[in-house]
Amino acid sequence: MSIVIVGAGIGGLTAALSLHAAGRSDVVVLEAAREIRDIGVGLNLPPHAVRELSELGLGDALHQIGVLTRELAYYDPAGRLIWAEPRGLVAGYRWPQYSIHRGALQRLLADAVSERLGASAIRTGQRVTGIDAGRGDGVTIEVTDHDTGRTTSQMADVVIAADGIRSSVRNSLYGSAIPLASNGWVMYRGTTRAAPFLNGGSMVIIGDETQRVVVYPIADGVLNWLLVRPRDETRAETERGNWNVPVSIEMTASFVKDYRFDWLDVHQLVASATEAYEYPMADIDPLPQWLFGRCVLLGDAAHAMYPFGSNGASQAILDARVLAYELATAATPDDALRAYDAQRRPAVSEVQLANRRQAGDVMARVSALARRGAHGDAATELQDIERRYKQLAGFDVEALNNRKSWSVSAATASAG
Ligand SMILES: Cc1cc2nc3c(=O)[nH]c(=O)nc-3n(C[C@H](O)[C@H](O)[C@H](O)COP(=O)(O)OP(=O)(O)OC[C@H]3O[C@@H](n4cnc5c(N)ncnc54)[C@H](O)[C@@H]3O)c2cc1C
Repeated sequence: MSIVIVGAGIGGLTAALSLHAAGRSDVVVLEAAREIRDIGVGLNLPPHAVRELSELGLGDALHQIGVLTRELAYYDPAGRLIWAEPRGLVAGYRWPQYSIHRGALQRLLADAVSERLGASAIRTGQRVTGIDAGRGDGVTIEVTDHDTGRTTSQMADVVIAADGIRSSVRNSLYGSAIPLASNGWVMYRGTTRAAPFLNGGSMVIIGDETQRVVVYPIADGVLNWLLVRPRDETRAETERGNWNVPVSIEMTASFVKDYRFDWLDVHQLVASATEAYEYPMADIDPLPQWLFGRCVLLGDAAHAMYPFGSNGASQAILDARVLAYELATAATPDDALRAYDAQRRPAVSEVQLANRRQAGDVMARVSALARRGAHGDAATELQDIERRYKQLAGFDVEALNNRKSWSVSAATASAG
C-alpha cells in the first residue's frame, strides 16, 4: 500500500515514523519548504506525547535536546503565586514532560525518518497544489517542484494531509478555504539566553484576563517566553496562521515593563531576546469531516487550535500513532481511516473548544478571584480546570499510565 504524507512538520514526520514502526515501508513525505530549517521557538510535550515518541524509540534522543518540565505554576500580575502542580515524572507519570525548541524536535524527527525509511523518504521543495480524492481506491495529487516550477501528477493508495494550520489540501477537499478564527488576541513569542529560574524545570503563567505571560526553559541557558494580549487596533493584523512574522523586541518588552519580580525579571528577559515573532491567535472550528475517500487530515490541518494547554503538537503526535495503528490492524484501509476518524475527531474537537475557553472566560474568573485576594479559591478553580483538561486531552495520569499501547507488533499487524 503506497502512502503519501503531505507536510514534514511534527505530525507528518511522526506519522512516517509510526507507519514504519507498524510495518509500512512504502511511505513518502512531501514538504513544500526547500529545506527543513530550525524554525519556531519553544513548545511543550506533555507525557502523553512523550509516551508516543518514546515508544517510537526516541526517548533518549528527546532527553538530550529537551528540558524536563517538573512544575506548572500560575502567578498573578504582581508575581504572587496562585497555584502550582508537579508535572511529568514527579507527578507520577511513567513518562516525563519536556520543553523543547520546535526546530530541534522537527530535526530529530526528520533525521529519524531519513535513517529508518531512507534518505529519499522526505522530498523537500515539493508543494502539493491539487488533489482528487474521488477515485475510491486511491488519491491523485498534483505536486509542484520548487526549483523547476513543473507540476506533475502522482497517485497513492492513501494520502495523509499534515500540511498545517493553513492546509491547502484541506481547503481543496472542502471546496473553499476554511476560515481561521481569532479571538482578537495576539501572541508574541521569543527566546532569550538567560540563567535558569525557580527550580530549573518550571513553566510559569503570569497575568490576568488582560495579558498573560508564559516562561519556561527549552535548552541549557535558553528561556522561551510568550505573551498574549488583545491586538493593538492601531496596528494592522498580521497574517493569520503564519508562525514566522518577526516583531519589534522593544515594543514587545514595553508590554511587560511592570513584570519584574525577585524570582524572574520578565521585562529584562524579553528586552534581551535574540528573536521575537508575533502571531494572531488563530484556530478553526471543529470540522465535520476529516476523511475524503482515501485522503485523511492530521494535525493542525484537521484541528488547528489556540496554543494554550501545550497540545497542538501533542494532538498531532497522537493522531499519527492512532492512524498508523489502525492502518496496520484494520481489515481494509477504508476501515482503518474510518476508525481513525471516529476515534480522533470527536476527542480532538473537545480539546479545540477547551482551548478557546482557556483563552477567554477561564482566565477572567480566576483573575477576579485572585484580585479579591481569594487565592485559595482561584487555586481550586485552576486545579479543577487542569484536571478536566488532562482528561479531555488524554493525559490524566492514571488513564495514561494504564492505557494500552498503540505500538503494533508483528503478531497484530494485518496483511492489508
Ligand atoms: C514554521 C513554523 C513554526 C512554528 N513555530 C511554533 C512555535 O514556536 N511554537 C508552537 O507551539 N508551535 C509552532 N508551530 C506550530 C506547530 O508546529 C504545530 O501546531 C504542531 O506541531 C502541529 O504540527 P503539524 O504537523 O500539524 O503542522 P506543522 O508543524 O505546522 O507542519 C506543517 C508542514 O506542512 C508543510 N506544508 C504546508 N503546506 C504544504 C503543501 N501544500 N505541500 C507540502 N507541504 C506543505 C509546512 O511547510 C510544514 O512543514 C510552528 C509551525 C510552523 C510551520
